[in-house]
Amino acid sequence: MKKECENVTLYFYGELEAQEKALFQAHLPHCPLCQKELAFLAKTQEALVPPAAPPALVEAVLAQAKPVSFWRKFYKPALGLATAMAAGVCLLVLSPNKAQQSVTESANWLAYVSVEADEEYNSFLQEFETFENEF
Ligand SMILES: [Zn+2]
Repeated sequence: MKKECENVTLYFYGELEAQEKALFQAHLPHCPLCQKELAFLAKTQEALVPPAAPPALVEAVLAQAKPVSFWRKFYKPALGLATAMAAGVCLLVLSPNKAQQSVTESANWLAYVSVEADEEYNSFLQEFETFENEF
């Protein structure tokens, strides 16, 4: 066993100083002992990492953990309106040269998105009434 062999664990965990590391790397190809030790360390570390849970199981657990509440739908109308406003602002900011055209375009777009948001909001209202009636 050479002096470099003592550094195999430190090398594996990346704890060696640059100079020691270079010495060890020069030593490694010629030392079956260190090669074995490195392979063993790698296998051990692999075995210590817990295996990932199957995706289907994760999905199932998450589905049970999340209460399927009506509140999850609450944010949609607000999100729709916020998106529409942000998009309108973006359109105005991004095309300063075609300001007039942009205003028309974003107005059309806003109208379109508002209709979408209205539908979302109406379906939300219906669900809210259903929810209220349950109590
Ligand atoms: Zn060695």
